[in-house]
This record gives sequence, C-alpha cells and structure tokens, in this order.
Amino acid sequence: MPEFAELLNGYRRFRTNGYARQKARYDQLVNEGQHPKLMIIGCSDSRVDPAQIFDVDPGEIFVVRNVAALVPPRETTPGQHGVSAALEFAVQFLQVRQIVVMGHGLCGGCKAALTQELNDQPLGKGGFITNWVRLLDEVRDPIAAEFGTQGRLAERAMELAAVKVSLANLRTFPIVREREKNGDLTLRGTFFAISDGVLHLLDEDSGEFSPAD
Ligand SMILES: [Zn+2]
Repeated sequence: MPEFAELLNGYRRFRTNGYARQKARYDQLVNEGQHPKLMIIGCSDSRVDPAQIFDVDPGEIFVVRNVAALVPPRETTPGQHGVSAALEFAVQFLQVRQIVVMGHGLCGGCKAALTQELNDQPLGKGGFITNWVRLLDEVRDPIAAEFGTQGRLAERAMELAAVKVSLANLRTFPIVREREKNGDLTLRGTFFAISDGVLHLLDEDSGEFSPAD
C-alpha cells in the first residue's frame, strides 16, 4: 500500500532528523514523565494539527482531537466517555494550566451539524456522527434563522459557535469550574483557518474572535 509506505518514509525521516535532534528532550520526558501545561481540544481534520500550528516540542501539549473539536457536557450515563476521561486526566493528574479549544475553517463536522448531511449524503450509517453533532443542536436554530443552513456564512457562524459550546460544556465539569475559579486553570477559545493561516482568539466577554498577534 503506497500510503503506508509513505508513512514509513516519514517515520524514517523522523528517526534520522527529529528524533535524533530531540533525543535529549525525549530522554528527559522518559525520565521525568510528561508535564504539559496545556491541553488542546481540536478537530480530527487532517489539515489542522495543533502540534504543527503551534510549533511545539514533544511533551508540551496534551491533545484531544475529535469531530468538530467538541466537548460533550459532563454525563454520567453508561458509555465510554473518551473526552471526559482525557479531560479528567489532564486537569486532575497533569494539572494543565490552560485548556485551548481550537475550532477551524471548513469544518465538516460543523457543516454536518447545520445540514444533517455529509458530502450530500445522510450522516453515517451507524448514527454516530448524527448523535455526536447533536451537541451543536442548541446553536443550530439561531444560526439557521440568521444565515440559513447552507453557505460559508452559516458554516463560519457554526464553526465559531461550536468553540463556545465546547467552552460552556467544559464548565459543566466541577473540577474545571473549581480550578478556573481558583485561578489555576484558564479556558481559551481559538479558531484557525488554513485559507489564511491566521489564528483567532475569542474574547469571552464580547463573544468576538480577533486575530492573534
Ligand atoms: Zn473539523
């Protein structure tokens, strides 16, 4: 399979270059464990890799990526709550100081939440995408009322709103609320678009996103 061969080529480059160059850092991470100060919640989209965008070294960011960079609210229903488990680990054990939610442009998950379709087809046969993007139901109606459900304006509105939904849902976890109140944890909303390569930061007081310096 050419794809996997390409992957192995990359691995070999990494072994020769990146791993060799950062060997001292890797040794330190082995001996001392990981102590990232930041957790990043991003989309699984192949175009928006947080480590690439923020140009960080190994051990610097603890990352969760999923469809549309969503955090579900705290739930105690039966099920395997992957995001909640990662969050608990990051906040309680790693004691990260910041949680950065990063939405992005041309997000298929956000578009799916608007249209209930992916590439003009009904959302997945298993119902998993449908159920997942239901996390954005609460913002869908106001956006649809203002911009409709099609087109870039509606999609961008949903991409930005999704960041706010994830931040609100993060605050449904008592440990997050507690640490934020004590000043031990900061939540940040961000948005990145590959079309211009610009990162936007959310001002939660005004609700507006503006370009980072
Ligand atoms: Zn996405």
